[in-house]
Amino acid sequence: MALSGIEIFKYLPKTNCAECGVATCLAFAMNIAAGKADTSKCPYISEQVKETLAEASAPPVRQVSFGIGDKEVKIGGESVLFRHERRFENQTAIGLLLTTSATREVNDAKIVSFKELRYERAGNKLGADFFFVENNNCNSQDFLDLLAKVKDEAALVICADNLQDAKEAMTIAGQQKPLLCGALEDDLEGYVALAKQYSCPLAVVALSLSCARKIAQKALALGFKDLVFSVGTGGLLNKGWEFIVEARNAAVKDKDKLLGFPTLLYPCAFSKELSCQFLDASILMAKYASALVMSELKGEFLYPLLTARLNIFTDPQRPLTMPQGIYTIGDANENSPAVLSCNFALTYFIVSAEIENSTVPAHFIIKDTEGLSVLTAWAAGKFSADSIAAYIKKSGIADKVTHKKLIIPGYISMESANIEEELPDWQVVVGPQDAAALPAFLKQWRP
Ligand code: SF4
Repeated sequence: MALSGIEIFKYLPKTNCAECGVATCLAFAMNIAAGKADTSKCPYISEQVKETLAEASAPPVRQVSFGIGDKEVKIGGESVLFRHERRFENQTAIGLLLTTSATREVNDAKIVSFKELRYERAGNKLGADFFFVENNNCNSQDFLDLLAKVKDEAALVICADNLQDAKEAMTIAGQQKPLLCGALEDDLEGYVALAKQYSCPLAVVALSLSCARKIAQKALALGFKDLVFSVGTGGLLNKGWEFIVEARNAAVKDKDKLLGFPTLLYPCAFSKELSCQFLDASILMAKYASALVMSELKGEFLYPLLTARLNIFTDPQRPLTMPQGIYTIGDANENSPAVLSCNFALTYFIVSAEIENSTVPAHFIIKDTEGLSVLTAWAAGKFSADSIAAYIKKSGIADKVTHKKLIIPGYISMESANIEEELPDWQVVVGPQDAAALPAFLKQWRP
């Protein structure tokens, strides 16, 4: 169990020098406990205390990362069973299977789909995260060629045929810090040595909870901690699901350190039907798969799964927001309406959809209200006349339109006179309260 802020505070120097960026040691301790800071920011904590704190405050499920730079994938790091208890830390990573038994054309088409199926939603970039490259026809050269082709495209999970094969694979892609996959209890020592050599994490085949505990104990005895459990390799969804639910419960509730590692599962092996694979993936994602391997990516299945992932892994204590800015809807020009709203993502989606429905191109101005909806933001003083006026002045909308008319949400009609006072060059037009009335309202628009 992670340490509380007060427990962490006991280890700090208590001089309140503020060099860590916050005013007091207690505030710093609270930030560490909340996962917003780490001990490296305080220059006065000894290495020994750092180690003690890292060990004592480590999440029950270890965080493991693979890939490098902007392709790095983090999995695990979880400390709760339900997101409302705190939040889930690292979203389930989605991988695409590439095998040496497939033709070059098939693999090339998959690689294209991996690169092209990218989306943006509420300011978040969505897409698959890694390639799972498997040698399943014992052809080492094909395997090495495939690895060479994709090693710089995304994070990799490398599933070799045997340890020798894995060693050769690492000469090609070891610098990309892949997740090395497929170690069994018998060859664990060799795989651990190889993973250590390249500072890579290692996925071990976990056929059951007892098998997983045994392998984890052996790996820890070898001084290796960056483990991932490769689960459900037998191709049974229910077995995989049971494993991850029981392992998470054991790690979080019973503090079983031997089961506190991320999990890698294979919807690609659970069903040949792609729709079923993605359905299985959504079930496993909700509880508690750290990474999933799909046989193929298709937009009609991938996008709903990515949206579900975004919702599951959003911090429930922070509303989903849109970045502040001016969004162009349709072919907007200097005569198009300028419509103002808040940055609560749900409001953005509803209002922007109604603007699109109107077929009237518009400049949609989103002001940062810290994720609060229009009326709540107004009540909290974050959507008041002075803050709106200050943002309109710096937003750049004055350079985009010539009419100087600002449409505000109907719910803040009481601010219209105040906004005009703050923005004497502008005429404020009160829009409808209900977004559904926007299409009819905008159709009447005259600059
Ligand atoms: Fe305390 Fe260290 Fe922060 Fe100084 S830098 S306030 S000693 S935690």
